[in-house]
Amino acid sequence: MNKHSNSFWVLASLFEYSTVTIAYQTEARITQSKPSGSSRWFAKLSQRFKRSQINENGQDSHRYGFAVGLAAGLYFANHGPSVVPIVAAKDKPMISPVKPRERDFYAPNSEALASDEMRVIACGTGMPTPRPAQAAACFLVELGNGDKFLFDIGDGSVERLFGLQIPTAFLDKVFIGHLHGDHFGGIGALYVAGGIAGRFSPLRIWGPSGSTPELGTKAAIDAMETMYAWDLAGRLGQTDVRGFATDVTEFDYKKVQVVYEENGVKITAFPAIHAIDGSVSYRLDWKGLSFVFSSDTYPNKWFVEYAKDADLVVHECFIAVPDLVAIYGLTPEAALQVGTQIHTAPEAFGKIMSLVKPRHAVAYHFWNGPDSTPAVLERILKTYDGPLSLAEDYMVWNVTKDGIRERMAVINHHSWNPPAAYPPEPVKAEDRVGYSPEIEAGRYNVDDVLKPIYEEAGKALGREFEYPSN
Ligand SMILES: [Zn+2]
Ligand SMILES: [Zn+2]
Repeated sequence: MNKHSNSFWVLASLFEYSTVTIAYQTEARITQSKPSGSSRWFAKLSQRFKRSQINENGQDSHRYGFAVGLAAGLYFANHGPSVVPIVAAKDKPMISPVKPRERDFYAPNSEALASDEMRVIACGTGMPTPRPAQAAACFLVELGNGDKFLFDIGDGSVERLFGLQIPTAFLDKVFIGHLHGDHFGGIGALYVAGGIAGRFSPLRIWGPSGSTPELGTKAAIDAMETMYAWDLAGRLGQTDVRGFATDVTEFDYKKVQVVYEENGVKITAFPAIHAIDGSVSYRLDWKGLSFVFSSDTYPNKWFVEYAKDADLVVHECFIAVPDLVAIYGLTPEAALQVGTQIHTAPEAFGKIMSLVKPRHAVAYHFWNGPDSTPAVLERILKTYDGPLSLAEDYMVWNVTKDGIRERMAVINHHSWNPPAAYPPEPVKAEDRVGYSPEIEAGRYNVDDVLKPIYEEAGKALGREFEYPSN
């Protein structure tokens, strides 16, 4: 109609064209993304980094420039604008576009999975010592058939799971790779809080044996249930406690074996090398898609064999040795031992991935931030140049035959309990354990303020609630 409305449409179509998920760290990070100004920028950054690798002798300024660029890249990739106009409009538009664009983040429970699609969400990517930004190891795999699986359940990861607002009845299958606290320390929270919030069935747990029975998964989970004896006793007759039970499948850590096969999903366990005997890794296969999770391990032959050509391959990658001393506080001796012999150093992670050649590699188990990530990436790129994500909590991958898309999940930090999948059973007051006479006698009489709450509930819900007589 006029010059301004014309320029509006030109700009709107430009915006639409340039709406992509930002790629960072390597140009191949998102295998199905369209090109954008930002991804070209990051590609240039990456190129610059590669040049500094080639001319490595004494070119510290390149490395510094890269580190600054990477930190900026990490920031913008996660927080920054996703719209980067490719061509500047000649005229300033008079109105901004109002047409919705494709989301560049994942809003939990807002997207249906296709019947042949897999979604993986990092619910813990950190280290054995707690850090607010990163819970310890936990990856959730959701399949288009409705199945959900947890791989490791490290300290703090259950907060992330609850943030995703998935009914806990569906978070009932946990595959533990090894019994370090940062890989199963959240099991108590999933057992108790999951049981309270709507998992009214046993928590199913798979995990390896140990070199002796007391070092195996069954003994650990039995001990956990014993540890929560008081917790459970206090809930009897108060809430539905059917979820306060476990169903443990312990298998031989030395064997390569299928440990789960239901509903078209096959999960294979194979040995890992970490700390002492009794660590394993897992591979999940479903509808021609595959997910592999290392848990913790030194580079090993089984992983190279059983992760070969898989779709999404998650392998541990420790903080670079110099930063284990400078940032993590280890002695040089401990940093060398832990960072190269107990775990997988970034250089070794890259070497393993170059052998495995996954459709998409995921590194986790390092502090992901501007201080420690540059060295991790620099060292990985010495030995691997394929598609790569440096995992952080709430990173999401949608995996189909056509592509693998990485985004960040956005959650409500003040979310309530996830909805229950089905209602609890009524409880019986006679099941309550109650108090001893000495403790009972200590009640202060506040009936005058509590009784009206019962009356209020009765009026609101149209039925009578009997006030307890002590
Ligand atoms: Zn470990
Ligand atoms: Zn670990």
